[in-house]
Amino acid sequence: MKLKDFLLENVIDGSSALSTNVSIPSSSVQCLDANIVVHRKSYLKDFMKNGSTLKISDFTGFCFEGATEFRQFLMAYQNKSGHDLQFLKNSATRITAICSSSSSGCLFKVHASSDVGQLSRFFIRNLIADHSCGGGLTNSNKPALSSEFVKSLIIDEIRDRPNKKPKDIMADFRREFNLTLSYRYAYKGKQLALTELYGDDAMSYNDLSWYLGALQTHNPGSYVAMDVDSSTNQFERVFVGFGACILGFKYCRPMIFLDGTYLKGRPRVLMGATAKNGNQGIILY
Ligand SMILES: [Zn+2]
Repeated sequence: MKLKDFLLENVIDGSSALSTNVSIPSSSVQCLDANIVVHRKSYLKDFMKNGSTLKISDFTGFCFEGATEFRQFLMAYQNKSGHDLQFLKNSATRITAICSSSSSGCLFKVHASSDVGQLSRFFIRNLIADHSCGGGLTNSNKPALSSEFVKSLIIDEIRDRPNKKPKDIMADFRREFNLTLSYRYAYKGKQLALTELYGDDAMSYNDLSWYLGALQTHNPGSYVAMDVDSSTNQFERVFVGFGACILGFKYCRPMIFLDGTYLKGRPRVLMGATAKNGNQGIILY
């Protein structure tokens, strides 16, 4: 679906969506069709690619999923329009931004807020979209960026290619958005995307106790042992022997082969044991 069509389907009031200066009372904003959410993830990326043909007023009536998403939208707007914004209010419930050239008389102003008690329903309530300061000049070498913003643009790509290198992300930004992305932002954006997709790897150690209990319950004959530091309760090591493998080893030659690999991002080693049976078959421990 083209972004323009997506917006036309998703704004509350199609007629006000294409006007330049709008004011929407919060009571007039209704719920959006839930199945539209399917297309949400790519709209920010599409805006970055096609921003020159889109106006900020196209997004009036659009339901942003909270202040964080609206901030990222404004970041995309700054990059595409070349106009720097200055925040007058910036909280989880309301955001007001004006043009950084307001002291020269530019009247641009956007105010957005959440519905009462629903932080995840964030709408533009007031907009003066015209910049009387003249056309913004984009500087692709000094983009408005944050790690969260980079994450939002690359998360779909990282889902398909979790091993994508920061250097390749930087090249994509240059090619797709004409933006110079530093290695630091590329790296941090990728880490945030991985955390959102797969959870925090440090926190995942908390799930080990649950996993080992479930393994013993549902895989009879399995043997597990976990050591933790008695003073800090921090994980040290774990041993897992699956029931079927323990059974299989009884029929193997009396020699065990050990191998290990370092786990990325953590000073940990994953070790595995294998043995050969009489038919040259390999059993993995
Ligand atoms: Zn301006």
